[in-house]
Amino acid sequence: MFVAHTMEGMFQARTVLMATGVFNRRPSMPANVHDEALSRGLLRYCPICDGYEVTDSAVAVIGTGEHGTNEAEFLRSYTANVTLIAPTGDHELDAAQRSRLDNGAIQAVDGPCLGFELLQDGIAIATPTGRRLFATVYAALGSDVRSELAAAIDAEVSRDGCLIVDKHQRTSVAGLYAAGDVVRGLDQLSYAMGQGGVAAVAIRNDLARSTPLRR
Ligand SMILES: Cc1cc2nc3c(=O)[nH]c(=O)nc-3n(C[C@H](O)[C@H](O)[C@H](O)COP(=O)(O)OP(=O)(O)OC[C@H]3O[C@@H](n4cnc5c(N)ncnc54)[C@H](O)[C@@H]3O)c2cc1C
Repeated sequence: MFVAHTMEGMFQARTVLMATGVFNRRPSMPANVHDEALSRGLLRYCPICDGYEVTDSAVAVIGTGEHGTNEAEFLRSYTANVTLIAPTGDHELDAAQRSRLDNGAIQAVDGPCLGFELLQDGIAIATPTGRRLFATVYAALGSDVRSELAAAIDAEVSRDGCLIVDKHQRTSVAGLYAAGDVVRGLDQLSYAMGQGGVAAVAIRNDLARSTPLRR
């Protein structure tokens, strides 16, 4: 039996489906500026989700290293105007990453990002080498997987913090299932919903197997 303690009381259950997702690391900006930028599409987190919406516009990617290079390259297939800005200082790019950026004519600008200004039709980013204007900016700063609750009851996690599940979404703890971004996979709504469906069927069947039939 699982016992969950919440602000609204205590809940008991024979099974739990963990769907606690991930927290996307944010660029350094005040919360109100962040929320307005997000709601206006000036700040984005998921190029797979909405990259097509920035076709042929000026796009900044805040990030560096392999993750920043991958995201900048991904967006380069939508627009020829992509700039990779290091978040906190000079870029950390090896020769291969610099070569990939050069091949795509992606400009690499050292940070830190000193400030963000939301404009009527874009966003300005202050960098040590000047103020730059973009239609939108993508954060490629990684994310923190919200698997700590499951890990606290010894569910197995991967090196990057994702819950490890079998093909029926069962974790290593009997009765604990997981679905969505907290599990390694494509961080997409359709994927999360599909995993939720698989988990629901597994929970139903596993419970039925361990419940005596009524006579
Ligand atoms: C800005 C943005 C835009 C996106 N756009 C798209 C899109 O267009 N299409 C698409 O397919 N996907 C999109 N995604 C990805 C999509 O949102 C996720 O893949 C999906 O929401 C994952 O669902 P989930 O249930 O796993 O996690 P979430 O939707 O993240 O839900 C997890 C919930 O668990 C809660 N939680 C975490 N820890 C605890 C705790 N300890 N106690 C209680 N509650 C907790 C969180 O607060 C949150 O409410 C986008 C993501 C972002 C950030």
